[in-house]
Order: sequence, then C-alpha cells, then structure tokens
Amino acid sequence: MPTLDETDRRRIAHPKGRRVEAAARDELAKLLGPLEAGELRRERLLEYLHVVQDARGHLPVALLAALAEALKLSQAEVFEVASFYHHLDVVQDGQAAPPATTLRVCATGACALAGGQALAQRLRDLLGPSVRVLASPCIGRCECAPAALIGGEALGNATHERIGAALAGSLPLPELAAVPMSLAEYRRQGGYQVLDECRQGKRGAEATIALLEQSGLRGLGGAGFPAGRKWRAVREQPAPRMMAVNIDEGEPGTFKDRWYLERDPHRFLEGMLIAASVVGIDVIYIYLRDEYAECRRLLGHALAELAGLADELPAIELRRGAGAYVCGEESAMIESLEGKRGMPRLRPPYVAAVGLFGRPTLVHNFETLYWVPAILRDGPQAFASHGRHGRSGLRSFSVSGRVRQPGVKLAPAGITLRELVDEYCGGMADGHELYAYLPGGASGGILPASLADLPLDFDALQPYGCFIGSAAVIVLSRHDSAREMALGMMNFFAAESCGQCAPCRLGTAKAAQLMTAPRWDEPLLRDLAQAMTDASICGLGQAAPNPLLCVLKYFPHEVGAENPSREDTGR
Ligand code: SF4
Repeated sequence: MPTLDETDRRRIAHPKGRRVEAAARDELAKLLGPLEAGELRRERLLEYLHVVQDARGHLPVALLAALAEALKLSQAEVFEVASFYHHLDVVQDGQAAPPATTLRVCATGACALAGGQALAQRLRDLLGPSVRVLASPCIGRCECAPAALIGGEALGNATHERIGAALAGSLPLPELAAVPMSLAEYRRQGGYQVLDECRQGKRGAEATIALLEQSGLRGLGGAGFPAGRKWRAVREQPAPRMMAVNIDEGEPGTFKDRWYLERDPHRFLEGMLIAASVVGIDVIYIYLRDEYAECRRLLGHALAELAGLADELPAIELRRGAGAYVCGEESAMIESLEGKRGMPRLRPPYVAAVGLFGRPTLVHNFETLYWVPAILRDGPQAFASHGRHGRSGLRSFSVSGRVRQPGVKLAPAGITLRELVDEYCGGMADGHELYAYLPGGASGGILPASLADLPLDFDALQPYGCFIGSAAVIVLSRHDSAREMALGMMNFFAAESCGQCAPCRLGTAKAAQLMTAPRWDEPLLRDLAQAMTDASICGLGQAAPNPLLCVLKYFPHEVGAENPSREDTGR
C-alpha cells in the first residue's frame, strides 16, 4: 500500500485551492475596520472592494481571497464582481501593480470633439510610466470638455499644463462648479414643507399621486415612464418596499444630475423622501456614479444634515458605482446594489414587483425626484404649462459640443435644436456652423442640420430613428464628422457591453471593426444592426446601432468617401 510522503502530507493539511494568507486576513481586518466577519454584508461587496482599491490603488488577489472568506463567498464570486467594473484593478500574484496615480482623460462625445484622445496620448508621452493615462468613457463634465479625472478628482478644460499643475499640487482639486445650497437656506425658502405635510397626513397619498399625474412628470433618466403611474404601481405591492435612486448618469453627454446635485442637494432629497412617504418605502438606496467624487462628499454631508431633520425617516444608504455604463439600466443597477456584477435581468418580472432583494422597488432617476417638491408645492400647472410645438413640461438639456455656452439648459419640452442653441446657448461657437447633433447621447442617434427644427421630446424623434433619452444634446459643426462620432460611440458600446448576450457582445465589437473600413459594408452592417436590435436583452445592445444607422441614412457621403465631405444631404 503506498504511503504518504511529505509533499502529500502538506497537501492534505489544507483544502485544495487558494488559501487565505494570515497577513491578508489581518490587512483586510484593518482596512474594513473593527467589523466582525458576521457583520459584513454580502450586498456591500462593492463598497468593500472600493475600500481596498482606495487604500492599495489596486486589488491584490490575496485580499480578494480574504474578503471572500470574511463574506463566506466563493473566491470566484468575489473575483467575478471585482473584475467586472472599470475602476477596480485586480492584480494577480506576480503581476505588476498599476502606477499609484491613474489619470482618466475623457475621449467620448464633446471631449472627443475637443481633442480628448490626442490629449491622452500626449500625456502618456509626457508623463511616462509613473502615471497611468487612460482614455476613458464620458465622465459627465461635457460642459468643460475635455475633462479628466486625476485619481478620482475631476478637472475640466483639461490641458497638459493644467493636468501637470494638478499632479504637482499647485492646482487644488476639486475645482468646485458651484456652492451647494445649505439645509438652512433650503428651509428658509420653504424647503421640506411639502414633505412635512405628507408625513403629517395633510396631503393624502392618492391626492399626491393625482397631482403628479396631472403634471405629466415622466422618468427623466431616459425611459420617460410616467412618474405617478410608477408610484401607484409600487404602492399597490406588498411591503416591505424598496427604493433605488439612479444617479449613475453614464450616457455620454449627460451631466444634468450632477449639475443639479452640486447646486441643490436638498431639493432632490426632499423629492426622494416625499416619494418614500407616499409609496411607503422602507429602505432607500442611492446609487451614485464613481466619477462624481465631489457629489459623493456633498451628498454624504447633506444626508448627515437630514438625520437631525425628522424621526422615523426610512433607512438611506449611499452607494458608489465603480465605472460601468450598463449599471444605468435599472435592473443592472439593482444587481450592482446587491453586490453582484451589473448584468441586466430578463423581464418580466419587473422591478416594481420583484426588484432589490426580491422586493417591490421604486426606481427613479435623480432628476425625476428633483422636480417633485416644486410640482406639489406650486401645482401641476407650474410644470405642465411649459412646452412648445404641442409638447408639455420642462426638460433639462445637457448641451455640449460646438456651442458658445454649453451647460444644463432648463427649456420647454418640444423646443427644437435650433431654438435651443440660439436662445439658450448663445448660438454656435465662433467659427462653427451647425452640421449635426446627437439628441439623446450615444444611443439616441445622430441627426443632420436640416432636421434641426424637430421638437425635442419623448416619442417625437422615433420616426427619424432617434430618441431624446436623457436629453443629452451634443452639437457637431462642419469641422466634425458624424461617421467618426458614430464610430466613437460604437467603440464605447463595445467596451461597456456586459457581455451577457452574444448579439450585443459580439455585434458591437464587429460593428466597430467594420466601421473603421474606408467604405462601409452597408448590407452587413444593417444585418448586424438588425440582429442586435432584435436579440439583445437590454437597451444597450438594442440601441447601440442607432448612430451607425443614422450615418447610413443621413450622412451617406461620409461612408466610403476617402476624404469625407462635410455637406449633409438632409435626407
Ligand atoms: Fe449585456 Fe449588452 Fe446584453 Fe445588455 S444587451 S444584457 S449590455 S450584453
């Protein structure tokens, strides 16, 4: 009978597979504080990964193994989450850790027009290996393109000189865009009065929902679902009910939520708490994109102020995304909030019935809630009385690109692009003439200047192969190319696809490759687009072909031309 040698004895002394090192266990305990293993919560996995990433600048697999042990998860489960998000860097044994400083230079949308890609390359050459320079997707600062994140802190109007100064410490970050309104000032202006009336029963739930319905307020994250109907649907579900607030605005060109949050956080918080009170919410989760570090601090402060405002508020958790565009999709956000990869769920069931932790969940975009206090205080007509060209309500357009005054423009629903640029943006930038525009970010398509008189609103642009989505308007001039913009957007979708379904995972990558050819293979691209639209699970894959289809439809002269003409046909 064979006997065990020393090697065998060492092997069977432990379970097979990677073991947790004592040093890693100790380091993790120090990083996560005095929490006992039993008090760690599985759904907060992403938060714990952030703690390690912030402390070490990356995620060593030894610490991931220790985290898996502490959470009683398999190491594979922790690894699959850690490796899903762009802002988390898993480093294997023996692999070099990334440099201590990561610089993300936005090279999408308005930042692409402003030379973000070339700036990233220049910085790589100038800074050498001590700083990791990445060309990144939109970081939500399109009004001051090109923008960059330096170790997580935002810098607008980025140049290599300004970035050099920030790295050297002579340009303090963050550069604040605005001073947020304090709780005292918000209250002085009548803030939290509507919430008090709801909580005291002076405003009934049914009457409040009816006012919202009369106002015509719709979900302003992109889908446009009527807000009042959503409240009613979740309220009819059994308790406990959850709420998830989506501030993961990752659609290239969108920065309105950040804009309002930086200026008036309590208006949003009051809207959120009114919704919670009317619908009967037990726990609220706020999912904020990782690119908004300053907003995270600001919101944390505002939430701390709230604690003294009233008793018996619902529990509120502020959560941090980790760089994944797809988590703007509501079911992907819910997966992420549960500590998993942000992969969209198949529906039905819908999140109103089966959402966060399997409970009925009210999911709202930041801006939808932002308007709730004013609508209820001033009456539904205050919102509904606005509008142009047969449309009703107000829209916050994030305008970027070749206009004189980019920024968030609160304008009547149905306003045309030409009116928006002329009346709200000071006209086109000097030396630029309108050529094309994206009415709804990366996924909303591209329209030519000849269609600049269409009303911009939900359900208005579908006949033209476009949609308004989150109202992220990127303006192109005759110095720009619609084809190049569409290619940039397809590369973006290919990088952001969660990979769950083949038409999206493979289709975006294949389309991006085909779109680099001097002459586009139109039949093949159309076939591919059809397959992506028909067979993708979520809106990312379904809408990804929109920019390319618009180029085929409206800018055929750019497709296949050696030297693309800047003339549009207006078809
Ligand atoms: Fe993921 Fe794309 Fe499929 Fe959406 S369409 S689930 S992003 S692979």
